[in-house]
Amino acid sequence: MKHVKIMKCPFCGAANTSVLESRTVEEGSIRRRRECDKCGKRFTTVEQVKRSFLWVIKKDGRREVFDKEKVKRGILRAIEKRPVSLDLVDEVTDQVDMEMLRSEKQEISTRVIGNAILKRLKKVDKVAWLRFASVYLEFEDLSDFEKLIERT
Ligand SMILES: [Zn+2]
Repeated sequence: MKHVKIMKCPFCGAANTSVLESRTVEEGSIRRRRECDKCGKRFTTVEQVKRSFLWVIKKDGRREVFDKEKVKRGILRAIEKRPVSLDLVDEVTDQVDMEMLRSEKQEISTRVIGNAILKRLKKVDKVAWLRFASVYLEFEDLSDFEKLIERT
């Protein structure tokens, strides 16, 4: 987690303020009670906490920023016409997102993300799991597919 913004005093414009109290109000934002070091006045801020970028190395070697929405779209495609609720899709997406964040790496390969999704989809719906495997991992031939089934 990286904290990006400098909070200026709204009364005198001084850049140095002290935090008296911090409280997380919702995911990604923190409410802070601050005191200006210069004029001593107190004020409250709601600050966005931005996590540092996680890079995804694609199969062709290009990089892109990890995007949770892409994970979700991939899962949605796999569960099409399957009896899987959207709540469950969100749950799986969040779990994968958290796993990627917890890894504390700066870059990961698409395969790592794919495997994290596969691991969970297998428990959710076997058909969706196979669909995802074939699309996401772009199998060259059937033997790759068989290896995956043995491995997971
Ligand atoms: Zn001030």
